[in-house]
Amino acid sequence: MLNLVLFGPPGAGKGTQAILLAKTFNLVHLSTGDLLRHEIAAKTELGRIAGELIDKGELVPDEIVISMIESRLKKPRCTIGFIFDGFPRTVAQAKALDKLLTKHHSKVSVMLCLSVEKAELVDRLLKRGLTSGRCDDLEAATIEHRIDIYNEKTAPIINYYESQGKYFPIHGMGTIEEIAENLSQTIKKISAKPTTVIHK
Ligand code: ADP
Repeated sequence: MLNLVLFGPPGAGKGTQAILLAKTFNLVHLSTGDLLRHEIAAKTELGRIAGELIDKGELVPDEIVISMIESRLKKPRCTIGFIFDGFPRTVAQAKALDKLLTKHHSKVSVMLCLSVEKAELVDRLLKRGLTSGRCDDLEAATIEHRIDIYNEKTAPIINYYESQGKYFPIHGMGTIEEIAENLSQTIKKISAKPTTVIHK
């Protein structure tokens, strides 16, 4: 299977690129942000808890997002792989994802990390806030807080995947098409790598 973790700070373009990559490589796109926003829109109890945290720029508890991913992975479906967008966001989530995929006789193939300068992130998110209706994109202070949380709790995941040789940094500035091309080329190179065959 081809399982991609699309990684990067808020505003790095994970959602936009994940949709494009899912089409190019025929993958199922799983975005914990989207799943949580569905819960909020459906006014569920989980949505109420998540909504309060999201609006403040906080992370939703690990157990909630892990069980959302677990139930999506359990769904029987015909796919060659998944693209995880906005998940994992803590080292505990990264470890849980490994466990879940192992249960399905699979693993993370690669972690693609979009790097974007902080000023550009803030600019992109404030612009998105004007049209998205997302409260967490409206205030500069909330955006700054989300970036701080990313640096403190999410960025350490880089070491986790780097130590497994799965970390691939991708320049995240430029046009959507240029970045999509960089990501696709990297994925093609990785998936073309010969696997070791042991002859007995
Ligand atoms: P962005 O990448 O722009 O921050 P997302 O849609 O991925 O947007 O996430 C929006 C918010 O949803 C996050 O700020 C966080 O509060 C919550 N969230 C999404 N995914 C996770 C996750 N894996 N763990 C904890 N919280 C999450």
